Amino acid sequence: MELFPHIKRQDTAVYRAITGEEKRQAEGLELIPSENYVSRAVREANASSLTNKYSEGYPGRRYYGGQEYTDAVETIAIERAKKLFGATFANVQPHAGAPANIGMYFGLLEPGDTVLGMDLSHGGHLTHGHPVTYLTKIFRFVRYKMKNVETGEIDYDEMRKVAKKEKPKILLAGYSAYPRELDYAKFVKIAEEVGAYSVMDVAHIAGLIAGKAVKNPFDYGFDVMTTTTHKTLRGPRGGMILTRENADIAKKMDKAIFPGLQGGPLMHNIAAKAVCFGEALSPKFRVYAKQILKNAKAMEKVFAKHSVRMIAGGTSNHLILADVYGSLGISGKDAETLLDEVGITLNKNSIADDTRSPMDPSGIRFGTPAITTRGFKEKESARVAEIMVETLKHKTDKKRHRVAREEIRRLCKKFPIPASFV
Ligand SMILES: *Cc1c(COP(=O)(O)O)cnc(C)c1O
Repeated sequence: MELFPHIKRQDTAVYRAITGEEKRQAEGLELIPSENYVSRAVREANASSLTNKYSEGYPGRRYYGGQEYTDAVETIAIERAKKLFGATFANVQPHAGAPANIGMYFGLLEPGDTVLGMDLSHGGHLTHGHPVTYLTKIFRFVRYKMKNVETGEIDYDEMRKVAKKEKPKILLAGYSAYPRELDYAKFVKIAEEVGAYSVMDVAHIAGLIAGKAVKNPFDYGFDVMTTTTHKTLRGPRGGMILTRENADIAKKMDKAIFPGLQGGPLMHNIAAKAVCFGEALSPKFRVYAKQILKNAKAMEKVFAKHSVRMIAGGTSNHLILADVYGSLGISGKDAETLLDEVGITLNKNSIADDTRSPMDPSGIRFGTPAITTRGFKEKESARVAEIMVETLKHKTDKKRHRVAREEIRRLCKKFPIPASFV
């Protein structure tokens, strides 16, 4: 079957870019921990005629006519999201993770209010108050950190002290580069002590929570969760806000996303979210989520065997942060480029308290959601980790790199990107 026949006929330049990317994804290994492969069903929903429809508002309360099917599809997405995460409310309209967070802030805060979040070099996200974002012109961000970078333990005593002093209105958890689980009960207790909302940005681990491979923050009393839908959750690019039991917060979230922040929702995207949530509710998804963790452990073992330092000492989730500069004498940027040449895509990453610049930091960040979707088990994951370490150790050995590139190509052929997960 020919893919994209209409684009091919009509627009050669775009056709080349799309098919080039299809080939790149098919023939290389994706280890960026925030990426994944969606099913054909999700892609079909995303390409559907729902993209033509304006539906400002929410199901049953729209500003335009003709909402019979958009109401149906958004309601399906909301109900499935609630079931997946044990929530009582879901807003599935945020276009991505960043707008979900911005909406959450606008809903819960007044300008000038304070947010206590993780130090950015210890794993927080841009939207958690990085100085380059406009958020820092509106709100005040203060920080907590890991107490011990070698174990990943958070400094809860310091967190409590800072919280009592700074009086944040939001105590924010959730990270882009943190490989351990939080002590959620302790976290919620501190938030309650200072009268702050407890919010967890689960963008990276939403699929692990939905698949019950890690704990659900709602079980420990968190007020709000924000997330993306395209990382471990394996859905279309998008965002979402979830709450539990507090109707007042729920109302604030709906108002903040529309009309506060966004216009018309992307209905084709919401349909794709609904399809993804349907997949994530299937028993197979739990097997998938658990395998992501097993594969990360298998990679951790190899890096430990080669004495490569890992931030937090290893991983309890889907990602690993390795200090390649400290352990192998190659910078994060050079490691990223070199591994790209052998067909392994990952990203350079600052490590906690990094002394190098963010553009050429000490670390690399990688994870197992995408290779697990391809069907990799522990054996293949460990093999990829071996190839990574050997490549980085012999950074000028071109022949070795060619052999590694061939092996990666063979692995990709043996484990093609699947069309369906159910
Ligand atoms: C990826 C991520 C986001 C932002 O998601 P986008 O879809 O890229 O806007 C927000 N928070 C965390 C913790 C993330 O990892």
